[in-house]
Amino acid sequence: MKEGSIEEFRQIIKESNNIVFFGGAGVSTESGIPDFRSVDGLYNMKYDYPPETIISHSFFKARPDEFYRFYRDKILLSGIEPNTTHKELAKLEAMGKLKAVITQNIDGLHQKAGSKNVYEIHGTVASNTCMNCGKKFDGQYMIDAIDNGVKKGYAQGHGRSSESGSDDAEEGRGPALEKDGRKYYLPLCDKCGGLIKPDVVLYEEGLDDYIWDCSRRFISAADVLIVAGTSLVVYPAAGLVNYYKGNKLILINLSETPFDGEADMVLHKKLGEVFEGLCDRIS
Ligand SMILES: [Zn+2]
Repeated sequence: MKEGSIEEFRQIIKESNNIVFFGGAGVSTESGIPDFRSVDGLYNMKYDYPPETIISHSFFKARPDEFYRFYRDKILLSGIEPNTTHKELAKLEAMGKLKAVITQNIDGLHQKAGSKNVYEIHGTVASNTCMNCGKKFDGQYMIDAIDNGVKKGYAQGHGRSSESGSDDAEEGRGPALEKDGRKYYLPLCDKCGGLIKPDVVLYEEGLDDYIWDCSRRFISAADVLIVAGTSLVVYPAAGLVNYYKGNKLILINLSETPFDGEADMVLHKKLGEVFEGLCDRIS
């Protein structure tokens, strides 16, 4: 293990055209998304259950109302934008240097920044499925549905005041929960009224085989593997690093990780600091 400098990091990136990036929560914290596992993260939030319980398959089934309150408050956030790291990675891909982004994050910010080849091993808030009929919904639909409810008549196009033309059209189901002056509705399908589930891998659920296999293949074929913003303590995700066969494993994380000893270079720095202006400096 070698504590590297930003200059040395840039040099390695400059010399390679087969880079793979594997990121965790730390990639998004600079966009204002809380890190589950950091001391400043969700653990300190005031809920009746710990985050791992709420974001589990069985809890979703048993208490979708509480699940969606937490989900809307802490996970499905409005107005979140990609940060420097997301943007520089998208540029690296456009330059033909970065082959894939593999992420444990579910916020969809890599795509929003322009990255194309993204493997989200824990799924994404940007895709959601009706558990009854299978209809797909985007993240904005979920925000609207949880905040305002899905109105009757919504299914007939976008007219919220459809055929009946009366107040009946506004009479969806009431809010599932009301806490601290805020209402939370269950996000229901506008076609069949079924409950919608995010395409996110909840605790107790397995990872998607296809995404896992692609991630594994890109990592094992990579010349440079950048592992960033992850404490590498959550399995099986952390185990992906073991598929890397090269000699340029770069770890970027503020605190130490169990893989520091195996890395060829470690940068205990803020990601934004490492990625700031990267593509301009190497082109
Ligand atoms: Zn449906």
